[in-house]
Amino acid sequence: MSKPNGEDHEQSNAAIPTGGGKLELPLIQLPGSHPCHGCGDCCRYIAIEIDNPTSYADHDHLYWYLSHRDVSVYVDWEGDWFIEFKTVCENLTEQMTCGVYEDRPQLCSDFSWEECEKNSGESAWKYHFDTPEQYNEWHREKRPRSFERYLKQHEKVKQRRLRVRGGETRRSAIANEGKGDQPSQSSSPA
Ligand code: SF4
Ligand code: SF4
Repeated sequence: MSKPNGEDHEQSNAAIPTGGGKLELPLIQLPGSHPCHGCGDCCRYIAIEIDNPTSYADHDHLYWYLSHRDVSVYVDWEGDWFIEFKTVCENLTEQMTCGVYEDRPQLCSDFSWEECEKNSGESAWKYHFDTPEQYNEWHREKRPRSFERYLKQHEKVKQRRLRVRGGETRRSAIANEGKGDQPSQSSSPA
């Protein structure tokens, strides 16, 4: 009998269930001949839908997301946008099966192994970005007017920050000069 942690799936050579092609993965016990055997790739990330970026704030969020390691953004073939975090599910066993099979989230249960990138042979995304530079390149090429607006706005933000920083530096210098005219606490008699 199989165990929830999939310990004995190596022993199985059962035929791949057909039943309309629906096989809920990862199984407790994977047939050794199944293409998912030893894979578990679909349990190594989460992806959450985000808005199609149109405003300066949206592009700035993309800049923020993509500045983080192991975070990417992609656009699927329907034109929907997703943020993806590469992170392994704690329930994935060493045998690359689900350790909470009966109790797993519905999203996992709904996932179709036939439509996955590996088994379908088709890329899951139309565009994929790992870094802000990749996104900017796409933005410049696909939405040039939007990219121009973004650059202008970004430059304004940058100049404002530089002015603020310049003002702070001057105020700090003036404050330090003022301190230099007076005896310091440590040099004052107790
Ligand atoms: S559905 Fe795809 S990604 Fe998931 S285990 Fe099977 S082959 Fe791997
Ligand atoms: S709960 Fe199970 S099926 Fe869902 S991601 Fe984790 S290991 Fe995979």
